[in-house]
Amino acid sequence: MDDWLRVRVAHASLVAEGVREFVLEPLGEARLRTWRAGAHVRLRAQTMLGQPAERRYSLVASAQGMQGCAIAVHRAHDHGVAANLHDCVKPGDTLAISQPSNDFAQHQGPQRAVLIAGGIGITPILPMAYEMSAAGRDFELHYAARSYGAMAYRAEAEALRPGAVHLYLGDERQRLDIRQLVARLLGDEHVYVWGPPSMIDEVRDAADKAALPSRQVHFESFGQRVAVGDRSFAVELRRSGRTLA
Ligand SMILES: Cc1cc2nc3c(=O)[nH]c(=O)nc-3n(C[C@H](O)[C@H](O)[C@H](O)COP(=O)(O)OP(=O)(O)OC[C@H]3O[C@@H](n4cnc5c(N)ncnc54)[C@H](O)[C@@H]3O)c2cc1C
Repeated sequence: MDDWLRVRVAHASLVAEGVREFVLEPLGEARLRTWRAGAHVRLRAQTMLGQPAERRYSLVASAQGMQGCAIAVHRAHDHGVAANLHDCVKPGDTLAISQPSNDFAQHQGPQRAVLIAGGIGITPILPMAYEMSAAGRDFELHYAARSYGAMAYRAEAEALRPGAVHLYLGDERQRLDIRQLVARLLGDEHVYVWGPPSMIDEVRDAADKAALPSRQVHFESFGQRVAVGDRSFAVELRRSGRTLA
């Protein structure tokens, strides 16, 4: 299987509302290569509709470092791979993952880092904070989520450097003001953002306006933009049942 490993699900548990963590152990002789913060693996599984599919998941670290292989999966909707991993995959099952790759590695200089995570975006951002903490580097972490209960790894984030971590809860109307955050930067910081496309757009836009060089803005998104073409469409609000056109 070249770059692919067979892994056994050693442990699976809910770490926040709608987020399930899977600890994966390679089977046989194969070993996961050493990885750095920001790395992800590709995982082969099925959608809830039974279609084989491949999805990417960031590797989750512990405070002890980038050891082992764990992923945290947010159940985005009822039909995809994430739903299948939540509802059907159990300890003892076998999955296939790729060796880690990293398109989101950190800069190596002494400059300060501003880490921004939206929802499940905490999975690659927290290992970055661990690495920076261990190296004695200066950073601040801004973590926004729907609610306290939906914040995966909240306790771990809160236990990081005192004063460096800021949490924003949507249900308490605590808004992360990205424009203000970026506008107050001195200009040599590196900004890392991992979240939905709208959050990334906001950071890039704010960085443009603050004349922060693009090489200092690092981003990756777990979401996909949906192309609807140049035509109007209606959305149905699931909870209220209202339709907006
Ligand atoms: C580098 C990288 C790292 C990532 N890391 C993580 C991570 O750590 N944790 C994590 O949870 N995710 C992560 N993701 C996202 C992850 O790869 C999957 O995209 C995510 O789990 C959703 O996959 P899915 O198959 O459940 O749904 P999708 O891929 O969104 O959808 C599957 C199918 O369902 C359809 N569909 C989509 N939305 C709906 C809907 N509302 N109702 C009905 N049908 C719908 C789609 O059209 C598609 O056919 C990462 C992505 C990248 C690129």
